[in-house]
Amino acid sequence: MLPIPKVWMPHNSYYQIRVQGVVQGVGFRPFIWQLAKKYHIIGNVRNDNQGVLIQIRTDKKTIKEFCQQIKSLCPPLAKIDKIITKKIDDNKTDDFKNLKSFKIIKSILGEALTNLPSDAITCSDCLDDVFDKNNHRYLYPFTNCTNCGPRISIIQQIPYDRKYTSMAKFIMCDSCQSEYDDPQNRRFHAQPNACPKCGPQVFLYDNKTLQIATKNQAISQTIEFLKQGKIVAIKGLGGFTLCADATSNLAVKSLRLRKKKYAKALGLLAKDIKMIKKCAHINNKEQDLLQHISSPIVLLQKKTKTFQNKLSDLISSESNSYGFCLPSTALHHIIMRQIDNPLIYTSANIADNPQIIKNSQALDNLASIADFILIHDRKIINRADDSVMEVINNNSTIIRRARGFAPLPIDLHDDFKKSDGILAIGGDKKNTFCLIKNGTAILSSHTGNLNNYATYENLQHNIKLYQKLYDFKIKKIACDKHPNYISTKFATSLVEKSAHKIKLIKTQHHHAHLVSVLSEHKKANNDTKYLGVAMDGLGYGGDNDGTLWGGEFMLFNYKNYQRVAHFAPVPLVGGDATSYEPWRNTFAYLYQNSNNNWQEMTKKYADLEIIKFLQTKPIKNMQQMIEQKINSPLSSSAGRLFDAIAGFLNLNREKIHFEAQAAMNLQTQAEKYFFDKNIQGYKIDIKDNIINWQGLWQGLLEDSKQKKSTQIMAAKALLCISESILKMTIKQSQKHDIKNIVLSGGMWQNKLLLTKIIRSLKQNDLNVLTPSQAPSNDGGLSLGQALIATNK
Ligand SMILES: [Zn+2]
Ligand SMILES: [Zn+2]
Repeated sequence: MLPIPKVWMPHNSYYQIRVQGVVQGVGFRPFIWQLAKKYHIIGNVRNDNQGVLIQIRTDKKTIKEFCQQIKSLCPPLAKIDKIITKKIDDNKTDDFKNLKSFKIIKSILGEALTNLPSDAITCSDCLDDVFDKNNHRYLYPFTNCTNCGPRISIIQQIPYDRKYTSMAKFIMCDSCQSEYDDPQNRRFHAQPNACPKCGPQVFLYDNKTLQIATKNQAISQTIEFLKQGKIVAIKGLGGFTLCADATSNLAVKSLRLRKKKYAKALGLLAKDIKMIKKCAHINNKEQDLLQHISSPIVLLQKKTKTFQNKLSDLISSESNSYGFCLPSTALHHIIMRQIDNPLIYTSANIADNPQIIKNSQALDNLASIADFILIHDRKIINRADDSVMEVINNNSTIIRRARGFAPLPIDLHDDFKKSDGILAIGGDKKNTFCLIKNGTAILSSHTGNLNNYATYENLQHNIKLYQKLYDFKIKKIACDKHPNYISTKFATSLVEKSAHKIKLIKTQHHHAHLVSVLSEHKKANNDTKYLGVAMDGLGYGGDNDGTLWGGEFMLFNYKNYQRVAHFAPVPLVGGDATSYEPWRNTFAYLYQNSNNNWQEMTKKYADLEIIKFLQTKPIKNMQQMIEQKINSPLSSSAGRLFDAIAGFLNLNREKIHFEAQAAMNLQTQAEKYFFDKNIQGYKIDIKDNIINWQGLWQGLLEDSKQKKSTQIMAAKALLCISESILKMTIKQSQKHDIKNIVLSGGMWQNKLLLTKIIRSLKQNDLNVLTPSQAPSNDGGLSLGQALIATNK
């Protein structure tokens, strides 16, 4: 007798499988279709407004296996949050009556996206097409499929369908259309599907905005110009970047001069891992990050001797690391295949404005920086800068969350299942915003510094866009407590202008930093308390007395916080000026630790270079400002302490050109001796719940007198800070009987400090939670603000 086909087995039942997460626009339905064929299952699959819905007829054993396969084989761009399976009654299965196979069916409710996919680097299958001479996509820079290519960067509105993207104006040729319609094809429903016949093209312009070449010729000329040391602006997935030969001092120098970017490290683009290995050390984790579908810039330790590729010293002279990335688009691959040196790879923008995404803007504004501009005719709708990551203590940390990550959702604990309609605006620097919709957090791409007007406008634009894309209605708005933040004022104006009632929730800066870590670790929303150590730049304090915080120990949960210990406050002499003139902080600390006997101290250390330097400044005025409390608010900021030490050691003493420059420079100097067992930190000085820094400053003055090296003093100062934080953390954890320690705030980007504290806390049997999905800097604030608002 013939075996009974599996589909007709008598013990088969009807099942419904619901898959939630990022499952639309990522090739999920054809994947299910193929899987169903493999198992000879009949049924159907569709998108609906909750994700993907599968209905099948099969047996108990197969359904279990089928669901396991969905999880383990799911397409690369998909992110499954939940798979819910249930049996359906036989009499409710009209859908099946006439089914003889497995079908992909149209959605009944319109194909509203549950979660928008992010952009992804060109996959290996598409690269094979691009570099196959016999393929009709040979050297075609816009080759993509359902597993790769642009997504959020081209979406104008939902549903995610070609006609609502910037691909709408390109009508697919017959061959592309047949790929698009064929469930067995890798390009089935790939919305940006294109080929040289029907898709976007590139155009090369010179700096007089004259078009000099198109298509393949434009690319080969670009390669030639880069080899000659020219600066070329290239349009990528989420914006324009400036590229130049990184081994040419002349090219790097003129790029810096023309961009007026004098100090900040420049990113690098390499052909492959092999090329990076010639310049930097890479461990397995770092290699995985470099090859991740988001293609981030990864900070890597420099090799002291770069054997073949001698990179320009002007790339990152103040740092021991390079920021490297690999090609993200077919265009970048085609260019890099022909180039034997790493390229400088830095966002193309003017001053602090957002990265340029429009062709017209690029041609108007970049001609003064770039020698040539390579544009293409696929519009970028949503700007997405490169993401920046670093592996610290074998954990990946995110410094800038942008292309490839945003707007992927961050899953929260089930306690937040009902949370909805919350918009958190974030802070003023490194701004991001966050939506809470249906119990998940959607963290926006990095916006930037809101003090720049164009960036502020970009934030307003993006909030409107996300509201549309996510069909999002605001019920609550969360922001920072700082009354002078642009973000706070913006949040207030949104509430005032709204036609319906919106609740405004102001959150304390460091509480928000800490809560963001709880949320990404999916902690429950109950009364359990954590001990938070927030090491940060400046944030508005919680006492409403105008003091600024930033070196804080807090007992907290989502609902509340209590400040239990902190760094000793020091006046910020000159207010905002202390943020970019480190020497002001050096003076304030030395003055405070001279026991208010400045004259005696300056006499004792009169020969020291720092004292001589400070004597050239209006010290008398500053003393008066401190004593009369004029423009000298008190601050317990860790960031300003780092700046003060950097200033003492003559690292960026007069002025910094970008946030945290002095602190980063201090870390670079400290690196050599920080883990040296023969080096001990300066004397710890803890009284009650306050960390004083008298021992640290006394030590610096004495070592300076003995002409100790900058590297030794930097290491001893940083060790003193790390040991003080450790001692206070242990003290508070014992006092309050709390084992769970949360670290957050921008100063934890100091990898020496973070590595040492994590190790030491673990040795003391404490659990440590650190940020990994959201940045520990202000880029993670909005996530914390949003979660605090869920309870208000
Ligand atoms: Zn692909
Ligand atoms: Zn085509």
